[in-house]
Amino acid sequence: MGSFSLLSAAARRLEGKVALITGGSSGIGESTARLFSKHGAKVVIADIQDELGHSVCEELNPQSTSFIHCDVTKETDVENAVNHAVSKYGKLDIMYNNAGIFGVAKPNILDNTKAEFEQVVSVNLVGAFLGTKHAARVMIPAKKGSIINTASVCSTIGGAGPHGYTSSKHGLIGLMRNTAVELGQFGIRVNCVSPYFVATPLAKDYFKPDDDGVYRVYSNLKGEVLQPEDIAEAALYLGSDESKYVSGHNIVIDGGFTIVNPGLCMFAKS
Ligand code: NAD
Repeated sequence: MGSFSLLSAAARRLEGKVALITGGSSGIGESTARLFSKHGAKVVIADIQDELGHSVCEELNPQSTSFIHCDVTKETDVENAVNHAVSKYGKLDIMYNNAGIFGVAKPNILDNTKAEFEQVVSVNLVGAFLGTKHAARVMIPAKKGSIINTASVCSTIGGAGPHGYTSSKHGLIGLMRNTAVELGQFGIRVNCVSPYFVATPLAKDYFKPDDDGVYRVYSNLKGEVLQPEDIAEAALYLGSDESKYVSGHNIVIDGGFTIVNPGLCMFAKS
């Protein structure tokens, strides 16, 4: 039963809601599946890592959590995942388009191949497009719903990721804004969460941990290290009714990383 029973009914912010989380087998998506479940949501994990996804579901409440194999680049997979959520739990309240890849980190554009670029855009942007489309298909008749996308600090600045990654995450903000405008007439909200570096399998290879095993990256906010749970908390807010008038936003969770240029900062200590 995991942590399902830890919160009282009154404290469960997603009681009665159904959520589908792509990329829910690992990292930020897994952490969100755990938190959503703890808050009373029925959760469908949609991912290409079947074994991991099944084991997360087994640890959580098996009655209210299920896994479906879904490659977000394939429309039929995404369509099936949405249909699975509706047939198993009766509806879809929260669609979390979170699956993503970093792609090959080649700093020189001349070394970047078209296929590598397209692969990243296909998972990170086309995947979210398909997720939004099929979620909207079932949310429009219900006249409500919350669609959340995991973008990145790379959605607002250049130079923090490879070309394909940065382009896909900038594109995701455009998709979020356009669909927030269109789907607002049906009571559907669309937002993004944009994390800074989090030590998940996607990002770990590109950084080195300190001697104590903790991955620390440059930040102007001292004393905290960003965790997958911090992103899950933002997704929880966007999925819950507490954010019922919030749509078209990109919640950047970066300790202030993207708001300052450290090269010209009057408060810099060193
Ligand atoms: P992760 O590798 O732990 O999780 C990503 C999940 O997506 C994995 O379970 C993977 O199997 C799944 N996935 C990959 N391709 C897929 C596909 N085609 N179809 C379905 N599922 C697929 O990494 P994470 O850090 O938790 O990444 C989650 C999201 O967060 C991504 O969109 C990523 O771009 C974003 N993000 C991560 C960081 C970071 O530093 N970790 C920072 C900013 C944004």
